[in-house]
This record gives sequence, C-alpha cells and structure tokens, in this order.
Amino acid sequence: MSVAITIDNVVKRFGKDTIINGLSVDVRPGEFFTLLGPSGCGKTTLLRMIIGFNSIEGGTIKIDDQIINDIPTHLRNMGMVFQNYAIFPHMSVKDNVAFGLKNRKVAKEKMNALVDEILETVKIAHLKDRMPTQLSGGQQQRVALARAIVIHPQVLLMDEPLSNLDAKLRVEMRNAIKLIQQKIGITTVYVTHDQEEALAVSDRIAIMNNGIIQQIGTPKEIYQRPNCVFVATFIGLSNILEAKVKITGAAKILDFGAYEVPMDNLIPEISAGSKVLVSVRPEEFEICLKGSDGLTAVVEHSVFLGVTTHYFMRLENGQEIEVVQNSGVEDTIPNKTTVRLLVQPAKINVFTEDGNTPLI
Ligand code: ATP
Repeated sequence: MSVAITIDNVVKRFGKDTIINGLSVDVRPGEFFTLLGPSGCGKTTLLRMIIGFNSIEGGTIKIDDQIINDIPTHLRNMGMVFQNYAIFPHMSVKDNVAFGLKNRKVAKEKMNALVDEILETVKIAHLKDRMPTQLSGGQQQRVALARAIVIHPQVLLMDEPLSNLDAKLRVEMRNAIKLIQQKIGITTVYVTHDQEEALAVSDRIAIMNNGIIQQIGTPKEIYQRPNCVFVATFIGLSNILEAKVKITGAAKILDFGAYEVPMDNLIPEISAGSKVLVSVRPEEFEICLKGSDGLTAVVEHSVFLGVTTHYFMRLENGQEIEVVQNSGVEDTIPNKTTVRLLVQPAKINVFTEDGNTPLI
C-alpha cells in the first residue's frame, strides 16, 4: 500500500535565516511529485526535512496519519537518491545494492533474491559483479536507484538525480525512472530545476520560489494555466504583454492598443480600465502575412530548428517577442517582414499588473 505525505505549515530556519516559512503540501499515495524551482528556492531543504536530515522548526510532516517530525532518519523507511549517486566505490554492484538489506539483517537467501529482482527492475542484472569504476554515469545512477528501492521503502526521494548525466542519457534515465516508479507504485518526491524533466516525469509539480510554493498542478495545468507571471516564465517560454480591460455592455475585452481580443472568462469583479499583464506562449500566436487585425510585429531574425522555426519579432512599442511555428513546407518569413499576430482567447492567461494573481 502506498502512503500519503502531508506537509503542514512547516518552517525551516538556519540560524537567523528563515528558509521555509509555513509551507503546506500534500503528496498523494503512489504519486510522482516534483519540487521544481530556481536554485536556492529551498527544494533540497524541504526534501531533507522529509527524510530527517534537516530538523523542522515548525509545523508537521505526516506519513499517512503518523507525525514523523521526531523520528530519526533510519526509522523513517525512506529511500533517497542523490545527484552524485553516493554509491560505495569499493563494493561491487550487487554488494552496493545489498548494503541496506545487510544492515537490516535480512537472511542471505532472501537478500540475494531481492537484489536479483531489483537489478532486473532497473535493468542492470548483467552488471551485478562489476565495480562502480567500470560503470557509466547512467549505470551508476541505476545502482543508486536500486539501492534506494531494494529495501521496499514507503517513500522514494530523489534530489537532482540526473544532473551529472549528459543530455541524451538524462532523457533515457528519466524515462527509466518514471517506468520503474510506475511499476512499483511508490510515493515519490523528486527535486529538479530542469523544467522539461519535471514536465516529463511528474504526476504533479509544485513550483517553488523563495521558500514558498507558487502553484501545484499537473504538468499540463501548470504549462497551460500558470497562476502568476513567475510560473508562466519559469515553465517554458512566455511572452508577457501589457493590456487594458475594456467593458462594453456584457462584453469584456483585452485592449492591446491597436488589437482587441474578447475575453469572456475574465473574473466578474474586474473593472473597466484595469491594467493587466497577459502571457502568451510563443507557439500560440498565429502569424498573418495579410490583413489588418492583430498585433503588428516586424521579424528581426529567425532560427530554424527542424520541426519548428523560432521568430524573434519587435512590436510597435519596441517590445521583443518570440513566436514559434511548425516549420511546414512554407518558406521561412524573411527578416524585416511586417506581420500581424493573432491569438485565441483560450490561449491567453491574464494577471494583475504586479503579475501575482490570475484574473481568469
Ligand atoms: P539548488 O537547486 O541550487 O540545489 P535548492 O532549491 O535545493 O537549490 P536549498 O539547497 O534548499 O535550495 O537552499 C535554500 C536556501 O537555504 C539557500 O539560500 C541556502 O543557502 C540555504 N541553506 C541550505 N542549507 C543550509 C545550511 N545547512 N545552513 C545555512 N543555510 C543553508
């Protein structure tokens, strides 16, 4: 049975510095939950509080109904995988993986069976007699993962486990980690600052900034409906534009100056004349070479990336924006071409002028 992790109003201080000040989040049983945020935002600190390497200065962490604040790490029944693998260099693969079982005094036959089973799961059974120096980075990380999960922990914690791998191996390993996590169904908290990795592996993501959680959601929710400008620009690319709200009868309109978009889903309390910030993903603009409706933009340069072409354009107010289009069979639009950009209301996110609160 998978467990739930309930983090309620936790506080973390180092000396006089408060790093986390009243953070709450629930991780559901069997979920692959990712903490994502810029360097220094407190991801590792929170993970270390869950496993017990860091003390908790306020609030509670629960596994199912049990408060674990004061339970020492070795009694928490959690496995952890680190960025630098932390496998023992003088032990073979199988001895590394067996280490936690030996500590728990598991009988030899059972231990061998468990090690074999887990090495199969992480697909390194053929390497079991090798020493760590004879393994690639990806293989070493599989050993670290096997060692963490062989003890059948209730919770798996991973702190940037793929950062030391090259780009291709990172993609291969993140797929492997996701498949293994799904297979064993273990509640997992994963820390990364790599947004693509987070989108690829997570059931849900918490976006952290400065010790607080800005938004929690599925990868799709976070990407399509960011709840503030920070999230919109941290996950993927977003163009942030200024606009004013116009209200004509029952109709609400976003006024970009020379371009207006009807926005029926703005919050009812919004008042006419409000200044707002609008985020639009680069792939959500439609480029029109003819016509007079839309934002007027001039192509400054473009980058062909095979499947897509990225256009860097300048709006009439001097703002630079990025527009991504499928490359298709048409010619790339030449530099200095004046185009019109259209966007569907459903693809627009609107925030208060300070960028902190969603208005749809
Ligand atoms: P990264 O992605 O760079 O690992 P992070 O989001 O995991 O960053 P943390 O390592 O949790 O960030 O650090 C959060 C803040 O807490 C930082 O300002 C860091 O300097 C501070 N911090 C972490 N550990 C300690 C410590 N033992 N003593 C004092 N300050 C610490």
